[in-house]
Amino acid sequence: MRQRTFSAAPIAIRHLSCRIDNGPVAHLVERVVRNDEVRGSSPLRSTTVPILPIFTFDHTVLRQETSQVEQDSADLQKLIKNMIGTMRNADGLGLAANQVGRSLALTVIDLKHVPGMEDRDSLVLINPALTGTEGESVFEEGCLSLPGIREEIVRPAEIGVKFLDRNLKEVEIEADKILARVIQHEIDHLHGKYFIDYLSPFKLSLLRPKLSRMSRGETDTDYPLAPPEPHHTKPKSKVKRLRGM
Ligand SMILES: [Zn+2]
Repeated sequence: MRQRTFSAAPIAIRHLSCRIDNGPVAHLVERVVRNDEVRGSSPLRSTTVPILPIFTFDHTVLRQETSQVEQDSADLQKLIKNMIGTMRNADGLGLAANQVGRSLALTVIDLKHVPGMEDRDSLVLINPALTGTEGESVFEEGCLSLPGIREEIVRPAEIGVKFLDRNLKEVEIEADKILARVIQHEIDHLHGKYFIDYLSPFKLSLLRPKLSRMSRGETDTDYPLAPPEPHHTKPKSKVKRLRGM
């Protein structure tokens, strides 16, 4: 990737992310493997902030372009805090504001679940935008808004991204491996896109039964979901397709 100028903290983030052992197909975006070890230790689960219901599949707010955050406010800081608590309660790696029903260009990422970055706090990205991409990688992705669905998705392997941090200070970083993958997944949410939009029509057709159940609010999760929208209780005939990456 081409050289850029970065602030000190984000450079450290990139170096740490390089420690991830990345095979031809690595696992997991936006959700940590749930097992007894993770659940048993459970230091990341929050009980001190409100847990927000997560919106799913065809909720309108998840298919809309989000609005840019224009200024700091007590409401914004409260939303960030509640999103981090909600993400951790669901063992998520990342969460976009529209996944909790707020159409704002804001996403949080829990670095504690990223190997080599366990001592890091959450990363808050406000108005994020990619500044460059390089290479290609395949990861199996999942999504808190598409429970029970996992698919291998091809995306750029390395990215540059600029954003405002939680103090609305401008930051630009490079990222690779899992961190690059999660950031791209979350930025897609902010533009109304899901990872399943990258699937072929055939693969998408195989997901129809699950998606239909999701639309009707019949999906079981161990984190709270928003109720289905009344006009979306029947399966759609077509899911929006992207023209390219
Ligand atoms: Zn997602």
